[in-house]
Amino acid sequence: MKLEQAKLLIEKGNIYAPSLYSYQRRETIPVQIGDLLLGSDFPIRVQSMTTIDTMDTLGSIEQSIRMIEAGCELVRITAPSVKEAQNLENIRKGLRERGYSTPLVADIHFTPNAAELAARIVEKVRINPGNYADKKRFEVIDYTDASYAAELERIRDKFLPLVKICKEYGTAMRIGTNHGSLSDRILSRYGDTPLGMVESALEFLRICEDENYFNIVISMKASNTQVMVEAYRLLVKRLKEDQFKPYPLHLGVTEAGEGEDGRVKSAVGIGTLLEDGLGDTVRVSLTEDPEFEMPVARDLVNRYVERRAQVGYIPPMKSDLLANSNFDSPINPFIHQRRNTREVFNLGGSQLPRVIADFSNTAITIESLKAIGHFYLPEPDKWAMNDLGADFIYSGSQNLDFMLPNGLKQIQDFSKWVQTKNTHSFPLFTLNDLKDLTYMHTELNFISIDAEEIINQESFIQFLKEHSNFVPIIYSNNTHNMPEIRRAIFELIVAKVESPIILQFAYKDLSLDQLQLFASTDAGALFVDGLGDGLLLKLEGQFSKKESISNSLAFGILQASRMRISKTEYISCPSCGRTLFDLQETTAKIRKVTDHLKGIKIGIMGCIVNGPGEMADADYGYVGIGKDKIALYRGQEVVKKSVHADTAVEELIQLIKDDGNWREK
Ligand code: SF4
Repeated sequence: MKLEQAKLLIEKGNIYAPSLYSYQRRETIPVQIGDLLLGSDFPIRVQSMTTIDTMDTLGSIEQSIRMIEAGCELVRITAPSVKEAQNLENIRKGLRERGYSTPLVADIHFTPNAAELAARIVEKVRINPGNYADKKRFEVIDYTDASYAAELERIRDKFLPLVKICKEYGTAMRIGTNHGSLSDRILSRYGDTPLGMVESALEFLRICEDENYFNIVISMKASNTQVMVEAYRLLVKRLKEDQFKPYPLHLGVTEAGEGEDGRVKSAVGIGTLLEDGLGDTVRVSLTEDPEFEMPVARDLVNRYVERRAQVGYIPPMKSDLLANSNFDSPINPFIHQRRNTREVFNLGGSQLPRVIADFSNTAITIESLKAIGHFYLPEPDKWAMNDLGADFIYSGSQNLDFMLPNGLKQIQDFSKWVQTKNTHSFPLFTLNDLKDLTYMHTELNFISIDAEEIINQESFIQFLKEHSNFVPIIYSNNTHNMPEIRRAIFELIVAKVESPIILQFAYKDLSLDQLQLFASTDAGALFVDGLGDGLLLKLEGQFSKKESISNSLAFGILQASRMRISKTEYISCPSCGRTLFDLQETTAKIRKVTDHLKGIKIGIMGCIVNGPGEMADADYGYVGIGKDKIALYRGQEVVKKSVHADTAVEELIQLIKDDGNWREK
């Protein structure tokens, strides 16, 4: 490809971040929210939303204080109607009287009159462009250009008063698109796509800019991490192309769930974008009390405070794409596509990404394999495996004194393997071992390689081209490790090397929360872009049960980046003042009886107003419609309109059984 052609492709094509190599935060305009400044060079802010009924003034004040004390810099409160919007005044007053000046954000869906009132009271309003001026009818309407333009005029009329009030009162605004609640108009023209999400925000943004109102933050949330990442990237590209101002970004994965799953999914989506310098404020949506979201959000963003100074140099791509560019990516960052690879044994090609358990420093016994999902049953004298059964075990220099189960293969250091040349295990080479390559396995060999070596050594690429049964296990010692590994993989893509790749990340001396967040960011960012065929997590330091922790985490990362589904997926909303039942308790109850239904997605939503839209991706839905009343959904269709909460979980199980999707634990 000629340089000029390549430049054109990149200029027009896939730029979404200042650099894919050195860490640089995207430049944005600053946005003022009360006394808080966001975007530009200001720290990445963390925020959350109350879950108490907005009419419970004291409860809302006390919960806001708990959130603020935990580090929340912006407190969002739902205002479903004018009466709640009005009560924001009492909540704000109560907080100020107690000495808290944290800005408040009114969360608005469907009700412009509540927004117009709230914008006079609090520091920021959040509107959802999917439902600000539209009621959801789930209709696909064929718009002509003229009728579409007429619709935009209708939106302008409804939205303009709010823009004028925000301008007059100095109130900030978030245009917050949700994948699950796009308007019928957007769906009919752009479909349920990242492009539709972006256009949904731009329709409203044009109206703001026409009024010279720029105090705006934008979000593109989805529960599907691939869609979420692609939508934010596309937004940045479109803002630039269409010469909008560079607005700050609010990052979030909607309905991420709770516990480990919620943390892993949030980090895969949010962390992927933070790695490339995108994001000015973060909300982690967990189905837990909002103050518990704060340390998670802090851990995610704190990694980048010193990142710029810590990054080891990563050279830009050499010739074929662009010299001297910080952005020369050979993949399309707006459409997920798994890297094209050749199948080697059970890796790459159409095989699911594999999980490799690190037992190099742990004695391998029949008993110890339980931690990675393999169980020996003495009675029938058989091995059994659960849905989180690891695919490979890395034994380091150990020999095994028993036969592994069929579903689990051994990887052993070459120096040990070569002593027996056991065909039931596969050797792991170092670069040094390749100097005198006399013996190798006929089917599959691994080579441990630093990403830096791939970038700098053309001879290694040549080696991979000539040895089709070698699979690199790539690691990086750079603080900016994900981008360095990505850079190495780009080198392989450009050189048309089709070897499958195992991603290796090592962590030590972290809390469990940090481990979950950091590993999900580093590995998830590569899997979201289809750049990996297996994952090896190495844990050192104070972790106890590190084999089971890393195994569960590896499967969780593959699930959250949608590369390998191995468990039930829960799309549960974080709850807010609209919630009609105890979400945490109900989620736990549903999880307890359905957590063995691998591959099924269950939405658990606190209200009918936003619930059905937000769980667009789910196979089944459990949605609050009134006090003790639940609606059950199959996909987007209501199948039981009003079930008493006491029997709703049993009815949900029955529905899954009726569809033939149930199996016993
Ligand atoms: S779906 Fe949940 S978080 Fe969203 S508005 Fe309804 S109750 Fe609140």
